[in-house]
Amino acid sequence: MYLKRLELHGFKSFAQKAVLDFDPGLTAIVGPNGSGKSNVADAIRWVMGEQSLKLLRGKKSEDVIFAGSDKKSKLSMAEVSLYFDNKDHKLPYDYNEVVIARRLYRNGESEYLINKNRVRLLDVVDALLRSGFGATNYAVIGQGTIDQLVLAGPAEIKNLIEDASGVKPYYLKKEKTIRRLAQTEENLTSVSQLIAEIEPRLRSLKRQAKRMEEREAVAAQLAGLQLEYFGGQIYLLETELDSVSEALQLKKRVVAGLESEITAFQKNLEKDEQQSTKSSTFVDELDSRLKHLEDRKLALLEQLAEISGKLKIDPAATRNFSEFQRQFEAILNQLRPDNIEEVKRSLKKLVSDFSNAKNDELLKQKQVLTRELEQIVKDMEEQRAAKNKLLTEEKQKKQFLTAEEKKFRTKSNELNELKDEQNLILIEKAKLDTRMENLTKEIREAFGGMPEMLSQHKKAPGNPDLPNQILKFKRQLELAGGVDEQVLNEYRETQQRFDYLSAQVKDLSAAVADLKTVLEELDLVIKKQFDEAFSRISDKFAEYFRILFNGGKAHMNLLREDVAEVDDDNLSAEALAEADNDDQTEEPKTHREIVGIEIKATPPGKKLATIQALSGGERALTAIALLCALLASYPSPFVVLDEVDAALDEANSIRFASILGTLAHQTQFITITHNRETMRQAHTLYGVTMDDAGVSKILSIKLEKAEAIAE
Ligand code: ATP
Repeated sequence: MYLKRLELHGFKSFAQKAVLDFDPGLTAIVGPNGSGKSNVADAIRWVMGEQSLKLLRGKKSEDVIFAGSDKKSKLSMAEVSLYFDNKDHKLPYDYNEVVIARRLYRNGESEYLINKNRVRLLDVVDALLRSGFGATNYAVIGQGTIDQLVLAGPAEIKNLIEDASGVKPYYLKKEKTIRRLAQTEENLTSVSQLIAEIEPRLRSLKRQAKRMEEREAVAAQLAGLQLEYFGGQIYLLETELDSVSEALQLKKRVVAGLESEITAFQKNLEKDEQQSTKSSTFVDELDSRLKHLEDRKLALLEQLAEISGKLKIDPAATRNFSEFQRQFEAILNQLRPDNIEEVKRSLKKLVSDFSNAKNDELLKQKQVLTRELEQIVKDMEEQRAAKNKLLTEEKQKKQFLTAEEKKFRTKSNELNELKDEQNLILIEKAKLDTRMENLTKEIREAFGGMPEMLSQHKKAPGNPDLPNQILKFKRQLELAGGVDEQVLNEYRETQQRFDYLSAQVKDLSAAVADLKTVLEELDLVIKKQFDEAFSRISDKFAEYFRILFNGGKAHMNLLREDVAEVDDDNLSAEALAEADNDDQTEEPKTHREIVGIEIKATPPGKKLATIQALSGGERALTAIALLCALLASYPSPFVVLDEVDAALDEANSIRFASILGTLAHQTQFITITHNRETMRQAHTLYGVTMDDAGVSKILSIKLEKAEAIAE
C-alpha cells in the first residue's frame, strides 16, 4: 500500500485542481516560500481526518477553503482526495485502489468519502489505523515541529513507542476491560449487599416454612389415619344398613303377602255371611208357609167336620161327632213321615165308621177336602223337613263362620305382629341412617368435604388403636400451630430472589475472574510487545543518533512509578465487611508501572545533557534519530515531512538524506524541503509556485531546476 496520488481542489491556496502523483519511494516537494508547499502537507493531514485547527494552521474549519485574492474570488468548497494503491489490501477494502476524500463547504457541511461512498470520520480513521499507520501523529510531521517528538515529554515518547509497536489497541481493550471489570465489581458488590440484606430474613422464613412443612407432614399422616378410620366406620355402618335393609325388604314382602291373604279371606267371609242371611230369610219364608198350611189344615178340618155333620146328622152321630173329632185328631197326631199311608187308612176307616149318610155330593166334597188335607199334611211335612234341613245347614254354616272369623282374627293378629316387627326394623334403620349422617358430617368437618380417596378405604377395620393414634396426631397438630400462606409465599419469593441473586453473584464472580484473566493476558501481551518495541527502537535510536551526530551517545530510559492496586480478589458481602474492618491495619498494595520514556542524549564531545539543553539543530537531529528509529523498526505506509531538515547543516543534511534514502525502501516519504541533499535522494520532484492571483500550482521538475529553486 502506498499513496499514488493527491488531488486538491479549493484547498487553501490550491484554488484550481492540482494533482500530485507519487512513487512508493521518496518524493520531494520544492518551491519558494509561501508558494503553498505546507498546504500540501496540510491537505494530507486534513483528508486523513485531522480535526486540530492548530495543526491545520487555521482559526476555523472553513479556513481550509480557498479564501480568494485580489484577482480571484473565494471558493465555496474544498476537496482533497488521497488515492492509495491497495494491491496488498492493507486498507480493509476489497479494491486495488482506494480513494479517501474529504469535502468541506462554506456553510459548514462536511463529508468523508471512501471510493465515493459517504462514510463517517470514524470509518476513515479506522481504515487508516488498520492499514498500518500505527498512529497518525507522525504520519505528517509539520514544519518546525520535529523537535516536538523529543520535547513533548517522557509520557509522549512512551506513547509514540506504544503507537509504533501496535499495543495501543491492547490498551484500548485493557481500558475497556478495566471499565467492565469496575462495573462488574460494582454490580457484584451491590448484588452481594442485597444478598446480605435478605439472608437473615430468608433464614427466619426458612425456619418458619420448615415448621409448617413438618406440620403438613403430621397433617398428611393424620389425614391418612382418619381416612382409614372413617373408611372402617363407613364400612361397618354400610354393612349393618345393608342387612337391615334386606331384613326390611323381606318383612315388607311377608306383610304384603299376609295383607293380600287377609283381604281375600275377608271377601270370602263376607260372601259366606251374606249367604247365611239369605238362608235364614228362607227359613222365615218356610215358617210362614207352614203357618199358612196350618191355617188351611184347620180350615179344611172345619169344613170336613161340617160335611160330616151334614152327611149323617143323628144324635148318635152328633154325640159321636165329638168322639169322631177326638179319634180323628188322635189319628192325625200319630202322623209321621213314615206312616202317612197308615194314617190315611185309619182316617178312611174312621170316616166310613162314622159315615152313615150316603150323600155322594158331600162325600165327594169330603173326598176333595180330604185329599187337599192329605196334600197339605204332606206339604207341611215336606216344608218341615226342608226347614229342618235348612236349620241344620244354617247351624253348620254358623259354626263354619265362627271358625273362619277366629282364623281371620288370628291372621290379623299375626299381621299386626309382623307390622310391629317391621316398625322395629324401620326404627333400627332410621338409627343407622342418623349414625351415617353424623359420620358423614364428622368426615366433612375433618376434611372440609368428602375426600375422594375415602371409597378406597372402605374396608373392615383392622387397627383397634386408630382412634388413639388419631388423637395423638391431632394433639401434635394443635401444638404445631397454623399454616400461614403469606409466610410460605414470602419464603418462596425470598428464596427465589436469593437463588437468582446467588446465581448472579456466581456469574459476576466468574465474569470478574475472566476479566482479570483477560487483563493479565493483555498485560502480558502489552508488556511483551512493548518490551520488544522498546528494545528495538531504543537500539535503533542509539544507532541513528550516532550516525546523525557522527558519534556521541544516546539512550532511552524507562521511567517507573508506584501505582496503587485495587485488592478485589474476594468481593462477597462478608469479605467486603471484613475488608472494611481491616482497612486501618492493611497497607494498600502497589506495583511499579512504566509511566514514560526519558531520552538521554550526549552529542560527541559533550557532557550528558537534557534534551532542553541541546541546540535547535541538535534537538532536531535527536528527534530525527527517534523518528528514523521508529520508522526503521515499524515502517509506516507513508510519512510527510515538512522541512524537518531545515535546521540541519550540510554535513548532517547529507547523513539524514542518506538515511531517508535507505528508509524509503520500506516507507514512502513525501518531503517538503529546501535541502539539496534531500532533493537528490528523491525519485520524484514537484515544484510548487504561486501565481499573481495567489493560487498555488504544481509542476513536475528536474533535479537541476529543484536545486536552482533551493538556491
Ligand atoms: P515556506 O517555504 O515559507 O514554508 P510554504 O510554501 O510552505 O512556504 P504555505 O505555508 O504552504 O507556504 O503557504 C502559505 C500560503 O498559502 C500563504 O501565502 C497563504 O496566503 C496561503 N493561504 C493559506 N490559506 C489560504 C486560503 N484559505 N486561501 C488562500 N490562500 C491561502
